[in-house]
Amino acid sequence: MTTPREAVAGVVDPEIRVITIDELGILRSVEEDPATGRIVVTITPTYTGCPAMDVIRADIRRALAAAGHPDAEVRTVHAPAWSTDWISERGRAKLAAAGIAPPASAARGGNVVPLTLAVRCPRCGSPETEQVSRFGSTACKALWRCRACSEPFDHLKAL
Ligand SMILES: [Zn+2]
Repeated sequence: MTTPREAVAGVVDPEIRVITIDELGILRSVEEDPATGRIVVTITPTYTGCPAMDVIRADIRRALAAAGHPDAEVRTVHAPAWSTDWISERGRAKLAAAGIAPPASAARGGNVVPLTLAVRCPRCGSPETEQVSRFGSTACKALWRCRACSEPFDHLKAL
């Protein structure tokens, strides 16, 4: 028996198909309304310009319908805003394995002076990379190229 939470957590991001919405950190909660028994899913969009959110909402409803909850509701919450820090360690590893450079974690607070970290090539690990275009295969990603191995790759923009 698949729980509603398990069904929703298995939905993959339509643009970065290797990562689930749970690993991407946009899945906030899956709850059952005690009065109606209806499943209420709360998600936080990644980028406001991402048309993928409509696909994600439809995929969540489809996954829940398959798990026996055809009348689920998907709510969108914009605060607190999603940041790339919400991507789980497992999600970062999957992005790297797929040739998508995971965003550097934004250092917050403490005495650490934030350094401008080089975007490392996901194929050879070289920091000798350059941005080719602000927009990669989707608006959420930038296109980068590695000077060491000449491979282009998508870099998920850090927020
Ligand atoms: Zn490289």
